[in-house]
Amino acid sequence: MSTGTGTGSGARLEELFALARSVKGFMPDAEGFALFEAAKRAGQQGGGAAVFVEIGAWCGKSTIYLGAAAEATGATLFSVDHHRGSEENQQGWEHHDPEVVDPSTHRIDTLPFWRRSIAAASLDSCVVGVVGDSPLVAAAWRTPVDFCFIDGGHGEDPAWADYRGWGPHIAPGGRLALHDVFPDPADGGRPPYEIWREATSSGAFVEESSCGSLRVLRRMSD
Ligand code: SAH
Ligand code: MG
Repeated sequence: MSTGTGTGSGARLEELFALARSVKGFMPDAEGFALFEAAKRAGQQGGGAAVFVEIGAWCGKSTIYLGAAAEATGATLFSVDHHRGSEENQQGWEHHDPEVVDPSTHRIDTLPFWRRSIAAASLDSCVVGVVGDSPLVAAAWRTPVDFCFIDGGHGEDPAWADYRGWGPHIAPGGRLALHDVFPDPADGGRPPYEIWREATSSGAFVEESSCGSLRVLRRMSD
């Protein structure tokens, strides 16, 4: 809970959005706001007990947008990441950042950055970090999910594993948000787009809203 500004108040949200913008990561401001708005709808429908899951947190930028929606609606956000970075974050790849390499192990470790972001945002009362491999967590998960944001590994295998692992956990009427959906191959990798196409063309999900590369879908009843 923040001090001075009430939960869900305009000032509190501005504080959170300013912080989200300042955190390292891969979420443009407008898409972050759209993510917040979509999660808030899910939270409101969940009547103060909604469950949000985020796959791929990095340093906590998207976590703060989702956490803002959780705080405003009484939802709980489970933020899943092994914090070792995706393939595309490793040394020599496009999205590498040497600042997040642990000098003692020479491995990426974004967990300290994520923790700092959540503490700075005072979101510990509604955000739970789950440190581990997404398919492993998905296989043991038993709770219907009202809002699932998938932004983990973007390669073919990890992206499909996230969709196949988490899609079935989304409650009928619940939402699936996919990031980095690029219809034009010149703009980015294929897997999130192919997953979006499969999710919508199979009839399992219908699109509710979109902003930039963010697509928000709703799960149809079985
Ligand atoms: N949503 C973030 C960006 C996420 S980057 C933002 O707003 O900035 C992708 C993240 O997915 C990385 O932090 C990486 O560690 C995580 N990731 C990749 N594969 C994973 C897996 N199998 N299990 C858990 N996390 C994974
Ligand atoms: Mg992304």
